Amino acid sequence: MCSHGGMRWADQTIQVDDGALPGLGRDDLVRTVTTPEFAGITFHEVLCRSLLNPVPVSSGMPFRFSINTFRGCTHACRYCFARSTHTYLDFDAGEDFDKQIVVKLNAAAVLRKELRRRSWQREVVALGTNTDPYQRAEGRYRLMPPVIGALASSGTPFSILTKGTLLARDLPLLRQAADVVDVSVSVSLSMVDGELAGQLDPGAPSPRARLALIREIADAGLAPHVMVAPVVPYLTDSTAQLDALLAGLAAAGAVSVSAIPMHLRPGAREWFLQWLADEHPALLRRYRALYGRGSYVSAEYSARLADRLRPLVSHHGLAGRSGPVSDVAPAVVATVASRPATMAEPTLF
Ligand code: SF4
Repeated sequence: MCSHGGMRWADQTIQVDDGALPGLGRDDLVRTVTTPEFAGITFHEVLCRSLLNPVPVSSGMPFRFSINTFRGCTHACRYCFARSTHTYLDFDAGEDFDKQIVVKLNAAAVLRKELRRRSWQREVVALGTNTDPYQRAEGRYRLMPPVIGALASSGTPFSILTKGTLLARDLPLLRQAADVVDVSVSVSLSMVDGELAGQLDPGAPSPRARLALIREIADAGLAPHVMVAPVVPYLTDSTAQLDALLAGLAAAGAVSVSAIPMHLRPGAREWFLQWLADEHPALLRRYRALYGRGSYVSAEYSARLADRLRPLVSHHGLAGRSGPVSDVAPAVVATVASRPATMAEPTLF
């Protein structure tokens, strides 16, 4: 049974609605599962009533709908912006987010129904916004293949953002889908230092494994985009580090990158700063100066980062293949420089 307290869970019914994923509040808990294969992780298997989540224009996102097949994420990134959403489930935004995972068992069946609605306009659907669809649990539950099938057969374009090497399993399917709809595949990777990544993204595949995934996506002909996100101030943001990263991405076959400095919103902020205090106490003062009491880096920091990234992106040929570097690079820089970056929320991640 669920190890986390809370009458809602004891009642076997999830009675919450966090707004970000409407319908979850009406979902039914089927069972709670622990398994030796996933030591320390508890799965809460639910039957969801809806899957397509409307994304308001005011969010600044380049898509109007998102899908999350899970809640919580075992990739356990210290800085994950989605942490606070777990508190709506009576869980905490720290370890519970990493270890209490809600699994929408009937995701594909519900999605098929939603896509059949006459009102459905086949707008772009984003996967990987609040939780990683290819976190380890996907190996057990295999929710994505029928979701991809449903989107493609309904003529709905979609994008996937992940840190999960499990995506490689579905590359043949994604390749087929790309024959009939627009499919965009992005990998999130912001550092090549495996030791640091092991501290910041402790449950995610290593940088080396993610570079190999990028290569596989490229070999499948799917033009991998890379979200250099988050750029972690004073830990992953030196010119030498970014140069090494972009060189690795280019060698792996990435075709374009976006970069986003780390946001520290409530939930993620406490969890990240606690880690920083333990591991890099000398940086606390600099973080205070950079973020103040807010969630975002200063405009000066963003501008300096953009200035350093611009020539590196160009040098490594990562400005995308849809146009000359000079046409695309400003978009990358704008993503770096402006707070509500187009991909910031979905990836940021
Ligand atoms: S940042 Fe993404 S991959 Fe990391 S824990 Fe959050 S949802 Fe998962």
